[in-house]
Amino acid sequence: MAEKADEHRRAMSVPLLKGQKALVTGANSGIGLATAVALGRAGADVVVNYVTGAEEADDVVGQIKDLGVQAYAHEADVSDEDQVVAMVARAVEEFGTLDIMVANAGLQRDAPLTDMTLAQWQKVIDVNLTGQFLCAREAAKEFMRRGVVPEVSRAAGKIICMSSVHQIIPWAGHVNYASSKGGVSMLMQTLAQELAPHRIRVNAIAPGAIRTPINRDAWSTPAAEADLLRLIPYGRVGDPDDIANAVVAMASDLLDYVIGTTLYVDGGMTLFPGFATGG
Ligand code: NAD
Repeated sequence: MAEKADEHRRAMSVPLLKGQKALVTGANSGIGLATAVALGRAGADVVVNYVTGAEEADDVVGQIKDLGVQAYAHEADVSDEDQVVAMVARAVEEFGTLDIMVANAGLQRDAPLTDMTLAQWQKVIDVNLTGQFLCAREAAKEFMRRGVVPEVSRAAGKIICMSSVHQIIPWAGHVNYASSKGGVSMLMQTLAQELAPHRIRVNAIAPGAIRTPINRDAWSTPAAEADLLRLIPYGRVGDPDDIANAVVAMASDLLDYVIGTTLYVDGGMTLFPGFATGG
């Protein structure tokens, strides 16, 4: 009994992602930043991708290195094929391989339908959807080349797509964004089906309302926050760490049998809160 407890304690003291190599896109702000640091804390070496804001990216790299693992910053636009190919190739060169791809980068270009330009539509689809396709494709090539290394992980690789509750909740005034996340949902499920036989796990995290620069207007004044809280049964706006912790769990062997799933991390936002008192 005591031996079993000792064994359990020893297992729990090994960082969950020890020796794994991770790449996080859009990692110099918000959810990506918190995720990159959390992966480092869990023992992974981390590539900190950014497209603008080299200083912030360097700061994140410093935070991760302070945890005793490796990290470097890499500038690349996730919607540019050549840049994504080069980014993943460098990760393999610097770290020897890649185990975890967190396709997190995303943006909004909001407008009512009749005002929305084709450029606004296209930019959001290019970054939020095509960017995830490119990152998943390049990561999968490396995962397949290397295969499973049992001492590192039971899977040959993990792809985690940052989606949104708006993959299922329609969002007036944001048709480009909601469409991109609806697309991410089917991208994720299709890749999960296609790649599972290669022992590659593809899943998504769907955040609700998380306090980051992307949605500052929705939480930065007391009135806006009160309005937002009406949509959140759990009664608090989420923090980037709420999502970062979910990514670490999803990337770890604790969830090795989880394939093609979306984990909603949303304080209950997808529970139709309007029906708590109506309907
Ligand atoms: P954020 O604006 O703080 O971070 C987005 C990051 O993506 C930034 O680092 C930005 O520079 C980067 N990025 C944008 N375009 C890029 C490109 N072409 N190439 C590389 N990087 C690029 O916002 P966030 O809230 O941290 O968003 C992260 C992800 O979480 C996004 O996919 C977003 O849709 C999703 N999300 C956020 C919330 C929320 O409430 N904050 C809710 C649901 C989903």
